[in-house]
Amino acid sequence: MDLNTVLEVCDAREFQDWRTGDAWLGGGTYLFSEPQPHLRRFVDLSRTGWTPLRWLQGGALEIAATCTVADLFRFTDRPLFRECCNAFLASFKIWNMATVGGNLCNSLPAGPMISLTAALDGECMLRAQDGVLRWVPAAEFVTGAGENVLRAGELLRSVTLPAAALARRTAFRQASLYGLGRSGVLVIGTRDRSGAFAVTITASTTRPIVLRFRLRPSETELGTAIDQAVPEDVWFDDIHGLPQWRRHMTLRLAEEIRRELA
Ligand SMILES: Cc1cc2nc3c(=O)[nH]c(=O)nc-3n(C[C@H](O)[C@H](O)[C@H](O)COP(=O)(O)OP(=O)(O)OC[C@H]3O[C@@H](n4cnc5c(N)ncnc54)[C@H](O)[C@@H]3O)c2cc1C
Repeated sequence: MDLNTVLEVCDAREFQDWRTGDAWLGGGTYLFSEPQPHLRRFVDLSRTGWTPLRWLQGGALEIAATCTVADLFRFTDRPLFRECCNAFLASFKIWNMATVGGNLCNSLPAGPMISLTAALDGECMLRAQDGVLRWVPAAEFVTGAGENVLRAGELLRSVTLPAAALARRTAFRQASLYGLGRSGVLVIGTRDRSGAFAVTITASTTRPIVLRFRLRPSETELGTAIDQAVPEDVWFDDIHGLPQWRRHMTLRLAEEIRRELA
């Protein structure tokens, strides 16, 4: 849609002074989907030229904030990457524009790039206006529905997935209230060679919840751990699912994952 309060778009490579009313522009698939009356200027990241995906020494994978969902899907046939891209309720037009960084920064509970990077121990690199860098685990980047740790003018530059996390076995489950609907529950399990087991819960909760176990837990241990880790008000409540349904499905899908990764 037209955003008639936005009066200027400038290139992120050239702009200098961050002002109230500025916003980073990733793919624009959220920004242009509804009115943004508080915004006056976009700082466009699309011409930064950042390499979308690159392997680092030691086998870690760096994903630039500007990497699109389509780039990520084409890059690897690892099941978890494909499953998370497919969990995006979107057409190919959105896939080709929406960025991994925009998905994290939008911070919707149903953000599948949040699920993927949180489950694979991603580290977010953030850059402040004065150039100072800081790193935040992807699992802690989103703090609530539409909320995250970014400070005014701070940029998400990239997310790095460590080699050890990429080597784990994974299992994925997602549920929506209707076919091809927005994720109401998204659970990812991982297990490494030592037997360590982790479950990452997103979409059903307002922020990612990661549970780690030295060894695969029993059904009761897993259910109890989930209930202890998710406070009542963190089960998400919106038109895509009631909190009771989200909790029920989370427990059920986590148990399926526990069995799959036996
Ligand atoms: C039909 C449709 C279906 C959708 N389905 C889903 C869905 O299933 N799940 C979901 O989560 N979302 C969904 N969305 C919302 C949106 O498309 C996604 O969240 C998308 O990933 C946003 O990425 P973008 O690059 O387009 O972000 P933009 O729209 O460009 O930006 C989103 C927000 O992030 C900020 N931002 C962008 N990049 C950075 C950066 N590098 N550093 C700091 N801030 C940044 C922007 O200022 C803005 O506040 C959907 C949208 C549409 C139109």
